[in-house]
Amino acid sequence: MSMRRRTLLKVIVLGDSGVGKTSLMNQYVHKKFSQQYKATIGADFVTKELQIDDRIVTLQIWDTAGQERFQSLGVAFYRGADCCVLVYDVNVMRSFDTLENWHEEFLKQANPADPKTFPFILLGNKIDIDGGNSRVVSEKKAKDWCASKGNIPYFETSAKEDYNVDAAFLSIAKSALANEHDQDIYFQGIPDAVTETEQRGGCAC
Ligand code: GDP
Ligand code: MG
Repeated sequence: MSMRRRTLLKVIVLGDSGVGKTSLMNQYVHKKFSQQYKATIGADFVTKELQIDDRIVTLQIWDTAGQERFQSLGVAFYRGADCCVLVYDVNVMRSFDTLENWHEEFLKQANPADPKTFPFILLGNKIDIDGGNSRVVSEKKAKDWCASKGNIPYFETSAKEDYNVDAAFLSIAKSALANEHDQDIYFQGIPDAVTETEQRGGCAC
């Protein structure tokens, strides 16, 4: 029986309340979008399995469960993160300005071995609104910020229109894989087909 390697990658999603973090995750994992605003409560992560080359990768994507307003996310939230996804709303300047704080907060709390090479990704969300006429943060401004933080990859997304969501998360998975944590689990006889599983979990934070 062949042994296949399976890798669990912890991804955390940060950004101001209302920028679309939960919507992006829902679109990616469940292919669903809801116009209704519901502050996330309860479950803290969802998982999605994907295949990258011959690796089966399980992305464990952690959402902030609404606590981002108080910035009291707790150590369990940050512990062992393999990639940090920062999200802002291209129509809200403040959500762009606070990226600096989220970036800093992540490095402080997660305390990665090498802060300079730790993988971040920036998503500029809600590019669908008003056909782009209400955006206040230009692509250039966002890319300049990314360059100043050591070339963070940047994607413009719409959770509503499912624009660039898969591409962004694939890039996230690849970045996390490149920075892989020591969490490999070995399974026997995993089917070759790419499967998508869903699981909800929580933490004691
Ligand atoms: P979170 O607080 O960052 O998790 O934000 P949510 O995912 O709860 O989204 C906040 C609100 O923005 C909700 O009403 C969503 O329906 C809406 N929203 C999220 N993403 C998009 C998007 O890409 N386009 C549009 N037009 N609305 C969005
Ligand atoms: Mg949310």
